Amino acid sequence: MHIFAIANQKGGVGKTTTSVNLAAALAQSGQRTLLVDLDPQGNATMGSGVDKRELRRSVYQLLVGLVTLGDARVSSPTAGYDILPANRDLAGAEVEMVQLERRENRLRDALARHADDYDFVLIDCPPSLSMLTLNGLCAAHGVVIPMQCEYYALEGLSDLVNTIKRVHASFNRDLKVIGLLRVMYDPRSTLSNQVSAQLEEHFGDKVFRTVVPRNVRLAEAPSYGMPGVLFDKSSKGAQAYLAFAAEMIERVHSWKE
Ligand code: ADP
Ligand code: MG
Repeated sequence: MHIFAIANQKGGVGKTTTSVNLAAALAQSGQRTLLVDLDPQGNATMGSGVDKRELRRSVYQLLVGLVTLGDARVSSPTAGYDILPANRDLAGAEVEMVQLERRENRLRDALARHADDYDFVLIDCPPSLSMLTLNGLCAAHGVVIPMQCEYYALEGLSDLVNTIKRVHASFNRDLKVIGLLRVMYDPRSTLSNQVSAQLEEHFGDKVFRTVVPRNVRLAEAPSYGMPGVLFDKSSKGAQAYLAFAAEMIERVHSWKE
């Protein structure tokens, strides 16, 4: 079971779009996949066709120890993977978890009990470096960082990389940056091209080959409760995420050799 956190403390950079579409693309290629929604906004939940207003159980109850993963997960009616859903209840978890034992390892412990159920687990992190994100980073083997190629992108990146280093040192020796994924890319923008070239220069093969273009079909899909890769498979955005899933599978296989 490979566990990846999709993280970037900035909002609106494409974490949820990447989580939902990568999960759907992995499921399409036969991988048993679980998507964990760790954001109280519940966008990954809604985008997987699960109504966050009608959850009986959610990741919140799992984190505070009221239910197990087996009780809380549901299978996406549209997308072929399981989802551990979230809604606004999760915002309260932060405070409640302060008094719990192994509070940064709640998600890790819950997943460990289901290690044989999945090939891939993806964790859609909230836009913060909070206790929720810490749970995501402690549970994961690697971090996938979606980013837009704009001027301030690099500035935020060092905070995130430092956080990952601290978590690696203190809590989770398995954790590493798997790679940076360029998203919402506009090939006609000179700035995009410059930032993209800078990323490749600084981070080398930590930058994924796949580049996800700005594509309106990816933005439309969530209102249909569907990942873009299923909503319009032939769109440029869907094709990019299908290619990204293939690249991820290839990376994972290369570690085993
Ligand atoms: P985050 O989870 O980091 O906050 P989202 O994945 O929710 O970011 O994306 C922010 C907004 O940008 C959403 O409205 C989403 O539909 C849109 N979006 C994300 N990726 C793309 C893309 N490649 N092309 C067009 N719109 C995108
Ligand atoms: Mg999000």
